[in-house]
Amino acid sequence: MEIKETRGIVLYNRNYREDDKLVKIFTETAGKRMFFIKHASKSKLASVIQPLTQADFLVKLNDTGLSYIDDYHGSEAYQMINEDIFILSYATYVVALADAAINDNQPDPHLFAFLVKTLALMNEGLDYEILTNIFEVQILERFGVALNFHDCVFCHRVGQRFDFSYQYSGLLCPEHYDRDERRSHLDPNVPYLLNQFQSVKFEELKTISVKPEMKQKLRHFLDDIYDNYVGIHLKSKKFIDGLGEWGNMIRKDN
Ligand SMILES: [Zn+2]
Repeated sequence: MEIKETRGIVLYNRNYREDDKLVKIFTETAGKRMFFIKHASKSKLASVIQPLTQADFLVKLNDTGLSYIDDYHGSEAYQMINEDIFILSYATYVVALADAAINDNQPDPHLFAFLVKTLALMNEGLDYEILTNIFEVQILERFGVALNFHDCVFCHRVGQRFDFSYQYSGLLCPEHYDRDERRSHLDPNVPYLLNQFQSVKFEELKTISVKPEMKQKLRHFLDDIYDNYVGIHLKSKKFIDGLGEWGNMIRKDN
């Protein structure tokens, strides 16, 4: 068994036997691992095994079975995320996507940093729907999906009123719309924004502002992309899909 200290973020926990828990943590240097917590309710670890909690964990890693947490320090919870059911739902989905995108035991410090940064920006109050879209676009390659939202698949011109073609898995410029009679008929701002999202720098995020109508178009297109190329169905995503109507109801009451 290997002992090491690593930053980690809790993906989820679940009950195991009477008072024990299994906790899945995405660690920065050892990838995703399942940890066994004995007598969880009485454990000093009780407060750091909640989803979305981050800490420096001192761990005993076992490559073939369960791992153990010896100690932790520097724990951090995202207060604003945890206090808002809307932000929390999107954060939970983003974390579930990261979980689905990588295999256990394989370090992915780049994705770890990206996830932590995305959650930190949600917690700062930046637009959680757009942050989620950016995360969805950038994590596509972890699912083995490489899409180019930059230039036409035929002539490679850039900066056009692009449409998307599933037949060619790429963009069509107006001159090449006719190559796919079942092209998507997107609002050209959708591929334009997705191209921005693919290469966005976090410092630029504070200046990105997207109107509700455009957000809906982005949501629909990304749902199509995920249906066609990724094909995962996360519970946390279904919850978000139902959140719209339900959210309008409680917001009116306020
Ligand atoms: Zn073209």
